Parts: sequence; C-alpha cells; structure tokens
Amino acid sequence: MSTAHVTSTLFQVQQIDLELDRLAAEQRSVVHMLQGDSKLRKLRVDYSIAKQQWESGLQAQREAEWALEDVNRRLNAQEQRLFSGVVKSPKELQPLQHEVQSLKAQQIRQEEKALEMIEAADALKEAMQHKGEVLQQAEDAWKTESATLIARRDQLEAQQCELQAKRIQLVSRLDATLIQRYDAMRRMKQGRAVSKVEQNSCQWCRVILTPSELQRVRISVELQTCTNCGRFLHYDR
Ligand SMILES: [Zn+2]
Repeated sequence: MSTAHVTSTLFQVQQIDLELDRLAAEQRSVVHMLQGDSKLRKLRVDYSIAKQQWESGLQAQREAEWALEDVNRRLNAQEQRLFSGVVKSPKELQPLQHEVQSLKAQQIRQEEKALEMIEAADALKEAMQHKGEVLQQAEDAWKTESATLIARRDQLEAQQCELQAKRIQLVSRLDATLIQRYDAMRRMKQGRAVSKVEQNSCQWCRVILTPSELQRVRISVELQTCTNCGRFLHYDR
C-alpha cells in the first residue's frame, strides 16, 4: 500500500472514529433519559401517598360507622326492654331510663363523628383521584417519549455496529503498530490523529509547511507528521 493510500485510509478510520464518538455520546444520553424523569417519579410517589391517606380515611370511616351501629344496637335493645313492660319496678326502671338517655346522647355524638369521617374520606378520595389523573397523563406522555427513545437507542446501536464493521475492514489493511500509534495519538490529541494538508498548511493547527515538507507530503514516500502539532499529515490529492 502506498503512503498516500495509508494516510487516506487512516483519515477514513478517523472519520469513522469521530462518528462513533458522537454516536456513543448520544447513546449515553438516551440511556440516561430512558431511566425515567424525576417529575414522573415524584408524581408516582405523590399518588401512592394520596392513596394510602384515602385508605386510612376509609378505615376511620368504617370504624366510626361500626361504632355507630354498636350504639344503635345497644339503644334498641334497652328501649325494647324499657317499652316491653318486662321491667316494672321503679328500682330497675330508673337506671334503665338513664342508660337509654346516655345511649341516645352517644348516638348523636357517634352520628356526627361518622358524618365527619365520611366527609374526610370523600375529600381524600377526590384528592387521590385528581393525583391519579395527573399521573396517568404523565405516564401516557412518558410511554410515547420512551418508545421514541427506545427506537433511537436501537437505531444508534445498529449504526455503531455498521461503522465498527467498516472500521475493522479498513484497519485490517493497515500495519498493526501504525494503528496502535494512531489510537494512542487520538487519545492524546482531542480525538484527531490525522490532519489534512490544505492551502500548504496543517488543517488542524494551521502551521504553514516549509516547501521541502510540502514536497515530502506530496510525493509521500514516507509517513509525515506535522512539526507543530505532531499529527499525521494527509495530503488529499
Ligand atoms: Zn499541525
């Protein structure tokens, strides 16, 4: 392979590597975005808290209703005893009347409490439903967004595979030690190990080549590097 061919192949490898770097950076950002956004996570937590609050409200409502049923039952039983005529002696009747009075007072208190609990549970249910709607909208939006992201991630993977295959093919034509030098140089020189010669100067650092340097690059007997930035020079004829 002629030196000119070597530098042009190296230059092509570099184009591929730069594109691979760009694709890898985009892929990292897509993968990061696919982990879900913090706003959605917060909405999920908010909804689950609202649901728990409603469930405890419902439990408190049920307990108040059970307590009311219990008072009603006891009051019914004592009223039946009172009006059945079974209890006749004033000694027994008086405490029974007292108990009925006290149970009636309890009944009123318990009715108020149960009503309060029903209202509280209703308010909690409404709050939960509202949070549920907001969450559902966000979930739907995320579904669409993540489908787009997944498609892009797959596309990026396919593009990278294709470029990797192309790179392997190009690199196989080059000397292994040259590729090692190229790889090391790319790491040290902002991803660019090969620079084109344009208007008699190194495209990367803009240093003007001396006539003899220019001549050597043109006839390309051997691999030339820029005397200023050290990159391989590629003369595009
Ligand atoms: Zn240079």
